[in-house]
Amino acid sequence: AKASGGGRFSFFDPAMAETAERRRTLETDMQLALRRNEFKLFLQPVVDLSGKRVVGAEALIRWQHHEKGLIVPDAFIPLAEETGLIVDIGLWCLEEACLRLAEWQREGRDLYLSLNISARQIPEGLPPAVVLDAVRRHGVDASRLVLEITEGVLLADVGRSQSWLRELRESGFRIYLDDFGTGYSSLSYLKRFPVDTVKIDKSFIRDLNRNENDRALVEAIIAMARSLRLQVVAEGVEDAEQLAQLRQMGCNYIQGYHFSMPVCSADFAAAAESIARS
Ligand code: C2E
Ligand code: CA
Ligand code: CA
Ligand code: CA
Repeated sequence: AKASGGGRFSFFDPAMAETAERRRTLETDMQLALRRNEFKLFLQPVVDLSGKRVVGAEALIRWQHHEKGLIVPDAFIPLAEETGLIVDIGLWCLEEACLRLAEWQREGRDLYLSLNISARQIPEGLPPAVVLDAVRRHGVDASRLVLEITEGVLLADVGRSQSWLRELRESGFRIYLDDFGTGYSSLSYLKRFPVDTVKIDKSFIRDLNRNENDRALVEAIIAMARSLRLQVVAEGVEDAEQLAQLRQMGCNYIQGYHFSMPVCSADFAAAAESIARS
Protein backbone atom coordinates (compact mmCIF):
# COMPACT_ATOMS: atom_id res chain seq x y z
CA ALA A 1 0.00 0.00 0.00
CA LYS A 2 2.60 2.51 -1.05
CA ALA A 3 2.04 4.88 -3.97
CA SER A 4 -1.25 3.30 -5.13
CA GLY A 5 -4.77 4.30 -4.13
CA GLY A 6 -5.89 6.96 -6.64
CA GLY A 7 -2.78 9.11 -6.38
CA ARG A 8 -3.39 9.81 -2.73
CA PHE A 9 0.33 9.74 -2.09
CA SER A 10 1.39 11.44 -5.32
CA PHE A 11 3.47 14.08 -3.50
CA PHE A 12 4.66 11.60 -0.95
CA ASP A 13 8.30 10.58 -0.97
CA PRO A 14 8.09 6.78 -1.31
CA ALA A 15 11.23 6.32 0.78
CA MET A 16 9.70 8.34 3.58
CA ALA A 17 6.39 6.54 3.29
CA GLU A 18 8.21 3.29 3.67
CA THR A 19 10.02 4.50 6.77
CA ALA A 20 6.77 5.69 8.35
CA GLU A 21 5.16 2.38 7.50
CA ARG A 22 8.08 0.46 8.94
CA ARG A 23 7.82 2.45 12.15
CA ARG A 24 4.09 1.73 12.43
CA THR A 25 4.70 -1.97 11.83
CA LEU A 26 7.46 -1.98 14.42
CA GLU A 27 5.23 -0.21 16.92
CA THR A 28 2.35 -2.67 16.46
CA ASP A 29 4.84 -5.51 16.57
CA MET A 30 6.27 -4.30 19.88
CA GLN A 31 2.80 -4.16 21.42
CA LEU A 32 2.17 -7.72 20.23
CA ALA A 33 5.58 -8.79 21.50
CA LEU A 34 4.63 -7.79 25.03
CA ARG A 35 1.49 -9.98 24.85
CA ARG A 36 3.30 -12.83 23.12
CA ASN A 37 6.07 -12.67 25.67
CA GLU A 38 8.72 -12.23 22.98
CA PHE A 39 10.97 -9.96 25.05
CA LYS A 40 13.78 -11.62 26.97
CA LEU A 41 15.87 -10.17 29.73
CA PHE A 42 19.45 -11.21 29.06
CA LEU A 43 21.98 -10.97 31.87
CA GLN A 44 25.62 -9.94 31.73
CA PRO A 45 27.78 -10.83 34.74
CA VAL A 46 29.56 -8.07 36.66
CA VAL A 47 32.79 -9.29 38.22
CA ASP A 48 34.89 -8.02 41.12
CA LEU A 49 38.58 -7.11 40.95
CA SER A 50 39.75 -10.68 41.49
CA GLY A 51 38.16 -11.47 38.13
CA LYS A 52 36.64 -14.59 39.67
CA ARG A 53 33.67 -13.53 41.72
CA VAL A 54 30.41 -12.52 40.01
CA VAL A 55 28.73 -9.89 42.19
CA GLY A 56 25.70 -9.21 40.05
CA ALA A 57 24.42 -8.69 36.54
CA GLU A 58 23.11 -6.04 34.20
CA ALA A 59 19.75 -6.82 32.62
CA LEU A 60 19.81 -6.16 28.87
CA ILE A 61 16.62 -6.60 26.88
CA ARG A 62 16.40 -8.69 23.72
CA TRP A 63 13.47 -9.29 21.39
CA GLN A 64 12.99 -12.86 20.25
CA HIS A 65 10.83 -12.00 17.24
CA HIS A 66 8.64 -14.85 15.96
CA GLU A 67 9.83 -14.27 12.36
CA LYS A 68 12.91 -12.05 12.46
CA GLY A 69 14.82 -13.80 15.23
CA LEU A 70 16.81 -12.05 17.93
CA ILE A 71 16.64 -8.23 17.81
CA VAL A 72 19.03 -6.02 19.80
CA PRO A 73 17.74 -3.08 21.89
CA ASP A 74 19.24 -0.35 19.70
CA ALA A 75 16.84 -1.47 16.95
CA PHE A 76 13.64 -0.94 18.98
CA ILE A 77 14.26 0.89 22.30
CA PRO A 78 14.53 4.34 20.62
CA LEU A 79 11.09 3.93 18.99
CA ALA A 80 9.67 2.50 22.21
CA GLU A 81 10.91 5.64 23.96
CA GLU A 82 9.41 7.90 21.30
CA THR A 83 6.01 6.22 21.36
CA GLY A 84 5.90 5.81 25.12
CA LEU A 85 5.73 2.03 24.89
CA ILE A 86 8.94 1.99 26.93
CA VAL A 87 6.75 2.47 30.01
CA ASP A 88 5.03 -0.91 29.57
CA ILE A 89 8.27 -2.55 28.46
CA GLY A 90 9.97 -1.10 31.53
CA LEU A 91 7.28 -2.50 33.83
CA TRP A 92 7.74 -5.89 32.18
CA CYS A 93 11.53 -5.64 32.78
CA LEU A 94 10.96 -4.75 36.43
CA GLU A 95 8.69 -7.75 36.93
CA GLU A 96 11.15 -10.04 35.18
CA ALA A 97 14.07 -8.68 37.23
CA CYS A 98 12.15 -9.35 40.46
CA LEU A 99 11.47 -12.94 39.34
CA ARG A 100 15.22 -13.48 38.80
CA LEU A 101 16.13 -11.87 42.12
CA ALA A 102 13.55 -13.96 43.99
CA GLU A 103 14.94 -17.07 42.32
CA TRP A 104 18.54 -16.17 43.26
CA GLN A 105 17.43 -15.45 46.80
CA ARG A 106 15.84 -18.92 47.06
CA GLU A 107 19.02 -20.47 45.71
CA GLY A 108 21.07 -18.52 48.24
CA ARG A 109 22.95 -16.54 45.57
CA ASP A 110 24.26 -13.21 46.78
CA LEU A 111 23.73 -11.21 43.58
CA TYR A 112 22.29 -7.88 42.54
CA LEU A 113 20.57 -7.04 39.27
CA SER A 114 20.60 -3.69 37.48
CA LEU A 115 17.96 -2.33 35.11
CA ASN A 116 18.38 0.36 32.45
CA ILE A 117 15.91 3.21 32.85
CA SER A 118 14.84 5.60 30.05
CA ALA A 119 13.89 9.26 30.45
CA ARG A 120 10.25 8.55 29.59
CA GLN A 121 10.01 6.31 32.65
CA ILE A 122 10.87 9.11 35.08
CA PRO A 123 8.92 9.81 37.15
CA GLU A 124 5.33 8.82 36.12
CA GLY A 125 6.31 5.81 34.01
CA LEU A 126 8.07 4.21 36.93
CA PRO A 127 6.99 5.78 40.21
CA PRO A 128 9.12 4.77 43.23
CA ALA A 129 6.00 3.25 44.82
CA VAL A 130 5.64 0.87 41.86
CA VAL A 131 9.26 -0.26 42.14
CA LEU A 132 8.86 -0.79 45.86
CA ASP A 133 5.61 -2.70 45.38
CA ALA A 134 7.30 -5.00 42.83
CA VAL A 135 10.16 -6.06 45.13
CA ARG A 136 7.75 -6.49 48.05
CA ARG A 137 5.38 -8.71 46.08
CA HIS A 138 8.33 -10.92 45.17
CA GLY A 139 9.84 -10.86 48.64
CA VAL A 140 13.04 -9.33 47.30
CA ASP A 141 15.30 -6.98 49.27
CA ALA A 142 15.34 -3.49 47.70
CA SER A 143 19.14 -3.33 48.02
CA ARG A 144 19.34 -6.12 45.37
CA LEU A 145 17.81 -4.00 42.65
CA VAL A 146 19.87 -1.30 40.97
CA LEU A 147 18.56 1.35 38.58
CA GLU A 148 20.94 2.47 35.83
CA ILE A 149 20.28 5.98 34.61
CA THR A 150 22.18 8.37 32.37
CA GLU A 151 22.74 12.02 33.10
CA GLY A 152 20.61 12.83 30.04
CA VAL A 153 17.73 11.09 31.77
CA LEU A 154 18.28 13.18 34.88
CA LEU A 155 18.72 16.47 33.07
CA ALA A 156 15.41 16.06 31.22
CA ASP A 157 13.74 17.34 34.37
CA VAL A 158 16.19 18.10 37.16
CA GLY A 159 13.76 18.79 40.00
CA ARG A 160 11.58 15.77 39.41
CA SER A 161 14.53 13.44 38.83
CA GLN A 162 16.03 14.57 42.11
CA SER A 163 12.94 13.68 44.13
CA TRP A 164 12.51 10.45 42.14
CA LEU A 165 16.12 9.52 42.99
CA ARG A 166 15.79 10.54 46.61
CA GLU A 167 12.65 8.47 47.15
CA LEU A 168 14.17 5.38 45.58
CA ARG A 169 17.35 5.67 47.61
CA GLU A 170 15.39 6.18 50.81
CA SER A 171 13.57 2.92 50.03
CA GLY A 172 16.92 1.15 49.77
CA PHE A 173 17.42 0.91 46.00
CA ARG A 174 20.81 1.70 44.55
CA ILE A 175 21.45 4.02 41.61
CA TYR A 176 24.20 3.73 39.00
CA LEU A 177 25.12 6.62 36.74
CA ASP A 178 25.44 4.94 33.32
CA ASP A 179 27.52 5.91 30.27
CA PHE A 180 29.67 8.09 32.50
CA GLY A 181 32.06 10.34 30.61
CA THR A 182 30.01 10.50 27.41
CA GLY A 183 27.90 13.55 28.23
CA TYR A 184 28.63 16.60 30.27
CA SER A 185 29.31 14.44 33.30
CA SER A 186 31.06 16.46 35.92
CA LEU A 187 31.52 16.74 39.61
CA SER A 188 28.59 19.10 39.91
CA TYR A 189 26.17 16.44 38.61
CA LEU A 190 27.44 13.98 41.14
CA LYS A 191 26.69 16.51 43.84
CA ARG A 192 23.23 17.29 42.52
CA PHE A 193 22.25 13.71 41.85
CA PRO A 194 23.23 11.39 44.65
CA VAL A 195 24.26 8.07 43.10
CA ASP A 196 26.10 5.03 44.45
CA THR A 197 28.21 4.04 41.50
CA VAL A 198 29.42 5.37 38.17
CA LYS A 199 29.72 3.16 35.11
CA ILE A 200 32.52 4.15 32.76
CA ASP A 201 31.27 3.91 29.21
CA LYS A 202 32.77 1.25 26.97
CA SER A 203 33.91 3.87 24.44
CA PHE A 204 36.69 4.83 26.90
CA ILE A 205 37.68 1.24 27.59
CA ARG A 206 37.98 0.14 23.96
CA ASP A 207 41.31 1.88 23.29
CA LEU A 208 42.55 1.92 26.86
CA ASN A 209 45.75 0.11 25.94
CA ARG A 210 46.57 2.36 22.99
CA ASN A 211 45.10 5.76 23.67
CA GLU A 212 46.89 8.01 26.17
CA ASN A 213 43.89 10.36 26.48
CA ASP A 214 41.46 7.58 27.25
CA ARG A 215 43.82 6.24 29.86
CA ALA A 216 44.14 9.65 31.53
CA LEU A 217 40.38 10.10 31.46
CA VAL A 218 39.59 6.72 32.96
CA GLU A 219 42.24 7.28 35.60
CA ALA A 220 40.72 10.67 36.46
CA ILE A 221 37.17 9.26 36.68
CA ILE A 222 38.31 6.53 39.03
CA ALA A 223 40.29 8.93 41.23
CA MET A 224 37.37 11.34 41.39
CA ALA A 225 34.90 8.59 42.21
CA ARG A 226 37.11 7.31 44.99
CA SER A 227 37.42 10.71 46.57
CA LEU A 228 33.61 10.96 46.53
CA ARG A 229 33.37 7.44 47.97
CA LEU A 230 31.60 6.16 44.87
CA GLN A 231 32.16 2.75 43.37
CA VAL A 232 33.25 2.37 39.74
CA VAL A 233 32.14 -0.22 37.20
CA ALA A 234 33.92 -0.39 33.84
CA GLU A 235 31.85 -1.79 30.96
CA GLY A 236 33.06 -3.19 27.65
CA VAL A 237 36.19 -4.91 28.98
CA GLU A 238 37.25 -7.29 26.24
CA ASP A 239 40.78 -8.40 27.08
CA ALA A 240 43.20 -9.21 29.88
CA GLU A 241 45.30 -6.11 29.23
CA GLN A 242 42.34 -3.77 29.80
CA LEU A 243 41.47 -5.74 32.92
CA ALA A 244 45.02 -5.39 34.26
CA GLN A 245 45.02 -1.64 33.63
CA LEU A 246 41.67 -1.12 35.34
CA ARG A 247 42.80 -3.20 38.26
CA GLN A 248 45.90 -1.07 38.64
CA MET A 249 43.81 2.11 38.50
CA GLY A 250 41.62 0.84 41.32
CA CYS A 251 38.40 0.21 39.40
CA ASN A 252 35.98 -1.77 41.60
CA TYR A 253 33.95 -3.87 39.18
CA ILE A 254 34.30 -5.06 35.62
CA GLN A 255 31.84 -6.09 32.94
CA GLY A 256 32.52 -7.17 29.37
CA TYR A 257 33.01 -9.87 26.76
CA HIS A 258 36.35 -10.77 28.39
CA PHE A 259 34.24 -12.49 31.06
CA SER A 260 30.92 -13.11 29.35
CA MET A 261 28.48 -11.85 26.75
CA PRO A 262 24.96 -11.12 27.98
CA VAL A 263 23.29 -14.55 28.29
CA CYS A 264 19.71 -15.76 28.72
CA SER A 265 18.76 -16.31 32.34
CA ALA A 266 18.89 -20.11 32.00
CA ASP A 267 22.60 -19.85 31.07
CA PHE A 268 23.57 -17.35 33.76
CA ALA A 269 24.61 -19.81 36.48
CA ALA A 270 26.87 -21.65 34.04
CA ALA A 271 28.45 -18.37 32.91
CA ALA A 272 29.13 -17.37 36.52
CA GLU A 273 30.67 -20.75 37.29
CA SER A 274 32.93 -20.62 34.26
CA ILE A 275 34.16 -17.17 35.38
CA ALA A 276 34.89 -18.53 38.86
CA ARG A 277 36.90 -21.41 37.35
CA SER A 278 38.84 -19.25 34.87
P1 C2E B 1 24.25 0.20 27.88
O1 C2E B 1 23.37 0.34 29.06
O2 C2E B 1 25.42 1.13 27.79
O3 C2E B 1 24.70 -1.33 27.84
C1 C2E B 1 25.99 -1.79 27.48
C2 C2E B 1 26.01 -2.38 26.10
O4 C2E B 1 27.33 -2.86 25.83
C3 C2E B 1 25.09 -3.58 25.91
O5 C2E B 1 24.59 -3.55 24.58
C4 C2E B 1 26.06 -4.76 26.09
O6 C2E B 1 25.61 -5.95 25.48
C5 C2E B 1 27.29 -4.21 25.42
N1 C2E B 1 28.52 -4.84 25.87
C6 C2E B 1 28.76 -5.50 27.03
N2 C2E B 1 30.04 -5.92 27.10
C7 C2E B 1 30.64 -5.51 25.97
C8 C2E B 1 31.99 -5.63 25.45
O7 C2E B 1 32.90 -6.20 26.07
N3 C2E B 1 32.23 -5.06 24.24
C9 C2E B 1 31.27 -4.42 23.53
N4 C2E B 1 31.59 -3.89 22.36
N5 C2E B 1 29.99 -4.28 23.99
C10 C2E B 1 29.69 -4.81 25.20
P2 C2E B 1 23.09 -3.93 24.25
O8 C2E B 1 22.66 -5.10 25.10
O9 C2E B 1 22.97 -4.05 22.77
O10 C2E B 1 22.28 -2.67 24.76
C11 C2E B 1 22.43 -1.42 24.13
C12 C2E B 1 21.76 -0.31 24.91
O11 C2E B 1 20.34 -0.51 24.91
C13 C2E B 1 22.15 -0.28 26.38
O12 C2E B 1 23.39 0.39 26.52
C14 C2E B 1 20.98 0.48 26.98
O13 C2E B 1 21.15 1.87 26.80
C15 C2E B 1 19.82 0.01 26.11
N6 C2E B 1 19.05 -1.04 26.82
C16 C2E B 1 19.31 -2.35 26.92
N7 C2E B 1 18.38 -2.98 27.67
C17 C2E B 1 17.50 -2.03 28.06
C18 C2E B 1 16.29 -2.03 28.86
O14 C2E B 1 15.85 -3.06 29.39
N8 C2E B 1 15.65 -0.84 29.03
C19 C2E B 1 16.14 0.32 28.48
N9 C2E B 1 15.45 1.44 28.72
N10 C2E B 1 17.25 0.37 27.74
C20 C2E B 1 17.93 -0.79 27.53
CA1 CA C 1 23.58 0.20 31.24
CA1 CA D 1 27.32 2.40 27.95
CA1 CA E 1 23.19 3.51 27.47
